[in-house]
This record gives sequence, C-alpha cells and structure tokens, in this order.
Amino acid sequence: MSELSSLVRPHIARLHAYTPGLQPAEPGWTKLNTNECAYPPSPRVAEALRREIGPAGDSLRLYPNPKSSPLRALLARLHGVGEDQVCVGNGSDDILNLLVRCLGGGEAGVGFTFPSYSLYPVLVGLENGRPCSIDFDRSMRLPFERIAASTAKVFFLTSPNAPTGVGFTEEEIERLLGAFRGILVVDEAYAPFAEENALGLLARQPRLVIVRTLSKGYALAGIRIGYALGQPEVIGWLDRVRDSYNVNRLSQVAAMAALGDPDYYAAIINRIKATRDRCYREWTAGRGWFTYRSQANFLFTEPVDGRGRTGPEVAQAAYDFLYARKVLVRHFPSHALTAPFLRVSVGTDEEMVLLNHTFDAWLKAPPSA
Ligand code: PMP
Repeated sequence: MSELSSLVRPHIARLHAYTPGLQPAEPGWTKLNTNECAYPPSPRVAEALRREIGPAGDSLRLYPNPKSSPLRALLARLHGVGEDQVCVGNGSDDILNLLVRCLGGGEAGVGFTFPSYSLYPVLVGLENGRPCSIDFDRSMRLPFERIAASTAKVFFLTSPNAPTGVGFTEEEIERLLGAFRGILVVDEAYAPFAEENALGLLARQPRLVIVRTLSKGYALAGIRIGYALGQPEVIGWLDRVRDSYNVNRLSQVAAMAALGDPDYYAAIINRIKATRDRCYREWTAGRGWFTYRSQANFLFTEPVDGRGRTGPEVAQAAYDFLYARKVLVRHFPSHALTAPFLRVSVGTDEEMVLLNHTFDAWLKAPPSA
C-alpha cells in the first residue's frame, strides 16, 4: 500500500467507477452508443442561450438562481404538482446521487434490478451502502415477487428499462407500491418515448419518487438537467444535501426554452419512435434477430451471424466489425443476460440505413473479418 492509498477511505479505494459509453473526440463516427437524441434541440434553446450570454457574457459574473426556482415552477406547472414537489439537478445522475446519499448508507439496503442503469451500484458504493441486486430473467418482465419481498429502504426501477427498452405499466408500478415498503424511485429517463409512465400515481402514492431528464427526449445531454418529482418532505431532503448552486445559469435557461417548445419535441419524438419501430420490424421479421419491444430511444437486439449462430462471441464480433467501420453501438459482455445482445440507440433514418448496410456487410464477411 502506498503512503497515499492508506489515506483514502477504504470503500472509496474499493470502488469501481461508472464506465460511460465512448465519446470519440474525432469526427466521422456514427454514434449510436449513448442514447442521445437523434435530432438537435429546439432552435429556441440556442436563441435563449445567446440572449442570456449577451455580447460580453456579463451575466456569467453572477451566480445562478440557487434553487433553479423559475425552472422548478415551470416543471411543477407542466406536471400538475406543487413547486415544493420538484428538485432540479445537474443531470438526473445528480438527482440519483442525492437520493442514494439521503437514503442509502450503512446497512440500509439499496435495491435495483439487473440489468438496468449501471450507475446505481456505483452510487451505493460511494455511500458504503449495501446493494441488493435482483436479476431479471430473459423475459425481462418485472420480477414482482422478489422486489416486493426486498427489505431495501429504497428501490430504483428504470422504466422503460435500460438496456432492454422494456416498459412497465402504471398498474404494475402501483401494485409494486402496494407490496414494497420502502421508497420506490422510478427512473423515467426514457419516458418521453414510452406509452405509459407513473406520473398519475404521484398524487396518491407518498413513497413514489419519479426521476426525469432532459438529456434524451429534449436533446440536452450536454446541458445536464434532470429532476425529481415527489413528496415535499423527500424534496426537502434532496435540497438539504445538494450543492448550493448545483445547476448552472446557462443550463437553467436552456431547459426553460426547451420546455417552452412542446410542438417541436412532439414532432422529433414521433420521428424517433417511427424509426425505432421500423428497425424493430426489420430486425425481427426481416433478419430473424430476437429484439425486445422497446419503449425507449434504443433497441436491444441479439445478432445472428452468417452461419445462424448467436451468443456473446457473435455479439462481440458484430460490435468489433461495426467499430472498425466507425459505427459505435454498446455491448455489455460481463453478464449472461446481456452478453449476446447489442444496444443500439435510435439515430436518424440515414444513420439507421448506414447501420443496416454495415450489418449486411458483417453477415457476408468471412468469420475473422
Ligand atoms: N437514468 C437512466 C436509466 C439513464 O440511462 C441515464 C443516461 N445514461 C440517466 C439516468 C442519466 O441521465 P442524465 O444524467 O444525462 O440526466
């Protein structure tokens, strides 16, 4: 042990950091690996940012609104809840971190499913908490009985789930809230692309917290805005532990402008859903690749190679072939449930045509190519 490493807290020394998808610096990649929105944000966002910066950037001298109060008020109005039921964060990762900080240390278990968003166990590790992971089976349907029986204080359910895209119904979530005794956090990062969400349950379910982001459906991943909706008491805990200026001035302005242009977003989300559903049909009925029915802006598909084989090596070979041709998707090789699959973010129609041509080339290529 070096002199320095004896100084760090032991649970931090043991921690494996979250591994984000690749963000290549050079141009020329078809980037279908981190579920960003296929289209740019509303033009109102750039206008509002220019206005806020002004000719000399003078507003940047000043700290932002510490509570993001105007943004909270707008989100409250849009979701039909009180302003004291909204907390805004620096991306929903910030909100998830605050929730684990408030609820997840020591012996109190923190539950989540596998597969789902792989940040949750990292956040539990940060708090030196006890992770309680519940595996899906291959159907990827909700493991209701096991979540219900969990003694965790807080459970993170991703709906629609990642990386599968499978969504859970309002009825399933309500039934779960009737059985599970802790706080249920429903991470709705991909809800803009889904048929259902849990918003309707907020008024009658005090142990429900919904987490949303503007990264996916609002095309603002680079701006970092996420938020929590829940009981005023829970929001009060988050406010107690967050950074005092956790959301910068420009991000607050960008978010307000985006939320003010619902027609623009309805149009691009419909386009993404149409592209997604067409790819789903092409890969299932057309190629015969098993693919989960997705309610998100990505598809989880099990490629079949030119010799009719599936499996972890086949998915890895497809990934490598795409990568060598500058097409980036995501492969999760470390678990049997995910290793035979690729997660593909839904891009523009042109990007999906290019991806499909590259898959065709892979199928025709000699096995080692
Ligand atoms: N939840 C889920 C399920 C996600 O996939 C992501 C994005 N990787 C996030 C939350 C975090 O999103 P952001 O921090 O960009 O709001």
